[in-house]
Amino acid sequence: MKKLFLITFIAVAMVFTNACSDVKESKTTMTKAIDPANMDLNVKPGDDFFRYVNGGWLASNPIPPEYSQFGAFHVLLDKNQEDLKSIVMEVSADKLAKKGSVDQKIRDFYNSGMDTVKIDEVGIAAISNDLEAIQKLNTKAELAGHVADMQKVGINPLFYFYVSADQLNSSMNIINFYQGGLGLPDVDYYTNTDERSQQLRKDYVDHVSRMFALAGEVEFVANSNAETVLAMETALANTSKTRLERRIAEENFYKVSKEELVQLCPSFDWDLYFQTLGIDETGEINVGQKNFIAGISAVIDKYSIEDWQTYLTWNLLDASASYLSSDFDKQNFDFFGTTLSGQPEQKPRWKRVLGTTSNGLGEAIGQLYVEKYFPPESKQRMDQLVKNLRISFADRIKELDWMSDTTKIEALAKLSAITVKIGYPDKWKDYSVMEVVPDSYIKNVRSANVFEFNRELAKIGKPVDKSEWGMTPQTVNAYYNPTNNEIVFPAGILQPPFFNKDADDAVNYGAIGVVIGHEMTHGFDDQGRKYNKEGNMQDWWTEEDAERFEAKTKVLNAQYDNYAMLDTLHVDGALTTGENIADLGGLNISYDAYQMSLHGEPAPIIDGFTGDQRFFLGYAQVWRNNIRDKELMRRLKEDVHSPGEARVNVPLFNLDVFVNAFDISPEDALAIETKDRAIIW
Ligand SMILES: [Zn+2]
Repeated sequence: MKKLFLITFIAVAMVFTNACSDVKESKTTMTKAIDPANMDLNVKPGDDFFRYVNGGWLASNPIPPEYSQFGAFHVLLDKNQEDLKSIVMEVSADKLAKKGSVDQKIRDFYNSGMDTVKIDEVGIAAISNDLEAIQKLNTKAELAGHVADMQKVGINPLFYFYVSADQLNSSMNIINFYQGGLGLPDVDYYTNTDERSQQLRKDYVDHVSRMFALAGEVEFVANSNAETVLAMETALANTSKTRLERRIAEENFYKVSKEELVQLCPSFDWDLYFQTLGIDETGEINVGQKNFIAGISAVIDKYSIEDWQTYLTWNLLDASASYLSSDFDKQNFDFFGTTLSGQPEQKPRWKRVLGTTSNGLGEAIGQLYVEKYFPPESKQRMDQLVKNLRISFADRIKELDWMSDTTKIEALAKLSAITVKIGYPDKWKDYSVMEVVPDSYIKNVRSANVFEFNRELAKIGKPVDKSEWGMTPQTVNAYYNPTNNEIVFPAGILQPPFFNKDADDAVNYGAIGVVIGHEMTHGFDDQGRKYNKEGNMQDWWTEEDAERFEAKTKVLNAQYDNYAMLDTLHVDGALTTGENIADLGGLNISYDAYQMSLHGEPAPIIDGFTGDQRFFLGYAQVWRNNIRDKELMRRLKEDVHSPGEARVNVPLFNLDVFVNAFDISPEDALAIETKDRAIIW
């Protein structure tokens, strides 16, 4: 859950799309830094740089049926899954692994998920105790206790619970809530009135109804349950903040005492809730979205206990579907995979089970992963890159014409205070208390959730452990965490095409260098700038600085707003602003660092491309990606990151050095007039 609140480099993949494909690039393609065969030299760089760099690759890599989009990330994810599989297979071969050992846990977790005969045989009985418990609820007063019980095993009706740094006192942990309780991916799926949204709601009701039918309800009950679910979720959506509102840091922070919480939302029995969780002293609580928590009260009042039983049953079915028998699993994929994202085929089971195992025993598998696949010299080279990026970012801050000297002092202090984590954590999570059994996949998934939930509970009121990681080492992603003022690069992303130990510096600075710069600037983007160097929410900008920054941001937002992706659908400049600022800043900072690394010597020309050209080619190839229309539509609405194509075709045209490197002329389709260019960092 915590991952939701980290600022990531790419969107955290949805459960059913997080695995990988059988389509692979050969090792030689992977390590050849720039392969001209992947380009389309017939396209003019200034008309469509994305296709100039990636056209050859895009044409020869149609999206495999088990994907909703397919690009450089997915190729790397795929390689990663093969690596993880070899680890799990090796461990699984040890039939004598001692009960309670890490090997036994990895082996039994994975094998229990692969035993579809057993899973199908058990069917819905795997959750019959939970279904009965819901049926036994007699009054709405009991609701809170049951919600707590479900949250403990990783099912989240109504809202999310987690424990993390107090935004005003970032060294201490407090309880946090976050709005939730929706089956569809976001609030506007319930509130939008366009035709596609209306159709999706119909499809959703259909899906919910089928799931109830699979659970044994007769058709008319299943249908009416589905209508109830949609009505209740719509009521929750109406009191929720939109994705755009949730981007704003202070819109998600409202600290209350337990007494104030009770006043805010009187119809939920908070005493019973905390008691069921085993929390005696709550301390202060960040309720996240104040109006949402207040709004829950009215929704509780409005619906009967029978309706709530229906809602809770739906939450149970929805959260369990992937781990139940194949009929549930298939129905779940048909809606979330095919209908929502346009993905024709589900990924092979081994990839999905491997993904779940790799989440559930994240650092146990991570430890084996880095031993085998993360060379120590990668860490050293990354240290050097980060050091150079930090210097070039500092130099750029000093030279900014729009930032006052007083704010610059604070900005430089924040930059030098950024903690950098590379590869894997210094200390590993201890999984010894987590029980893994050989014969029940869903029990194991729950066990993993209980393990994480108990870790959360143990943090309440305690100092923040700043050494903790929010992603596993095998994750192909990176993040900035504002309350720790830290940038984190798991081992998984330190591979080609991001980080290529065989590549020239130009390509590495264009790829992983920009990722590093991107993460650094998150501490200074439209939201990150609201946190000081200790990670506390505090405004350290002068009013004039903030105004000039916002004016520059607007220029950049407009460029993305104008970028058409599909028919009339454009990128949402406001939704993606933080990520766009980070991409633009990352490019400028990393380009300077690259120049520094040359020490005044000319860069080698390789395959006919200059150093500057290879820097930008290295950047653009990271974003090669084919995407299905439905998935694109979904992401344009939900993803705070712009699509890969826009991440190439918009920011680069603001850079003089890019314009010069590829002789972009003012007549070219993507050219931006000098006066309209955006430079922030
Ligand atoms: Zn980012």
